[in-house]
Amino acid sequence: MDTDHYKQILLDLKREVSGRINAIDRDIRHEDLSADWSEQASERENDEVLESLGNSSEQALSMIKFALIRIDEGTYFQCAECGEQIPSARLDLLPFAAHCVDCAEKIEN
Ligand SMILES: [Zn+2]
Repeated sequence: MDTDHYKQILLDLKREVSGRINAIDRDIRHEDLSADWSEQASERENDEVLESLGNSSEQALSMIKFALIRIDEGTYFQCAECGEQIPSARLDLLPFAAHCVDCAEKIEN
């Protein structure tokens, strides 16, 4: 199994998600707030959306970090729950997946 390939993908993702979190933080603080009052009001309405997006990005970031730890530990291809091998087709779609499809479904339900 080619861990370097997935490590590179995860590092790229980590950079992208970190950048997105920083951009959202700037947006919430309204550093580029326009002087137009009506526009300010609509920008404030977006805060809630931005904040929830920020939360899911934080969640994605922690999953990416966990996946990178799993690569270093040599357990990246093992399901964190049952220990079965996670198919590479799944990791191509979800590089930070820590569970096989069966366990992921069980956890969700
Ligand atoms: Zn499993």
